[in-house]
Amino acid sequence: MTIERTLSIIKPDATARNITGKIISKFEDAGLRVVAQKRVHWSQAQAEKFYEVHKERPFYGDLVAFMTEAPISIQVLEGEGAIAKNREVMGATNPEDAAPGTVRAEFAENIERNSVHGSDSAENAAIEIALCFDEAEIVG
Ligand code: ADP
Ligand code: MG
Repeated sequence: MTIERTLSIIKPDATARNITGKIISKFEDAGLRVVAQKRVHWSQAQAEKFYEVHKERPFYGDLVAFMTEAPISIQVLEGEGAIAKNREVMGATNPEDAAPGTVRAEFAENIERNSVHGSDSAENAAIEIALCFDEAEIVG
């Protein structure tokens, strides 16, 4: 296993319920380290750009509206196999399919309002991290 970095977002449904810390604890308990972090309120343009890969999907407009309705917490997580490990801690996209103990099983409201985002590949992790952070903001 190699040390990787991945992009994580705590979504508006979770920041609104004040459970940012509870979610971060799950990442830390799994051996992932927060090496960059910021709380921001995305504009429509920022959300559209981030989710551009989903532009053709029927839920794109709703997803952009959801991601801009309240602040989000964006972090870079670092650790051994961080990309897959983060996805494991997050659980399946639909909370009904998410394994017990995962973030989405415990906290997600539904398939859209599912509390967290995580990069799905090394390639996308690099793209998403560069989109959200300057290199100097990643401090270890
Ligand atoms: P993941 O976040 O698990 O990587 P996707 O990349 O497929 O899932 O989808 C991005 C986000 O779009 C999901 O996390 C969720 O917020 C939303 N989403 C996915 N599928 C649906 C759907 N069928 N209906 C509504 N929203 C969805
Ligand atoms: Mg995805």
